[in-house]
Amino acid sequence: MTTQQSHGWAAYVGVGSNLESPREQVEQAISAIAQMEGCFLVAKSSLYRSEPMGQVDQADFINAVVAVQTVLDPRTLLAKLQGIEQDQGRVRDGEHWGPRTLDLDLLMHGSSVIDEPGLTLPHPGIALRNFVLLPFAEIASDVVIPELTDVATLARKIGTSNPAIEKLAQ
Ligand code: ADP
Ligand code: MG
Repeated sequence: MTTQQSHGWAAYVGVGSNLESPREQVEQAISAIAQMEGCFLVAKSSLYRSEPMGQVDQADFINAVVAVQTVLDPRTLLAKLQGIEQDQGRVRDGEHWGPRTLDLDLLMHGSSVIDEPGLTLPHPGIALRNFVLLPFAEIASDVVIPELTDVATLARKIGTSNPAIEKLAQ
């Protein structure tokens, strides 16, 4: 018997905010994830600042990615993440890529591949978004995204200009 055995799944969560002190929103969300029952915070990336996509008339985003070890299944974990979004005052007005106090995306959950209403895994935006891939690669470069490739390979291809992104000093 080993005491090193890990339970549950490795999951990765993308955190973003561009309203109401975004750095604090992101830090607060990471604390809330760390305190979630059934989740253990394994790693957190640096914070990044990126320009908004889509509707450009809005503030820059602060982004990060965290790694958790969790016994929660994907739907339960996503529901809890949405609870944190609600707690931090996000108003859902249906505007895709609009301003938000907090956006939590479940990027990946173990080897799950799911395409159902309300839950797609791996998250379909991963390979297209530098503000996901760069922080993701910082904490999990060797991880292979189901039906895709490893995070480091995707991060190498994505570039830092679309949208413009910079890693913030800690
Ligand atoms: P976006 O993050 O793409 O700007 P939203 O956060 O407003 O948009 O989208 C949330 C919707 O996406 C929710 O209704 C949620 O059920 C759905 N969704 C599907 N898959 C995922 C996922 N892997 N992580 C987070 N939300 C997801
Ligand atoms: Mg989202």
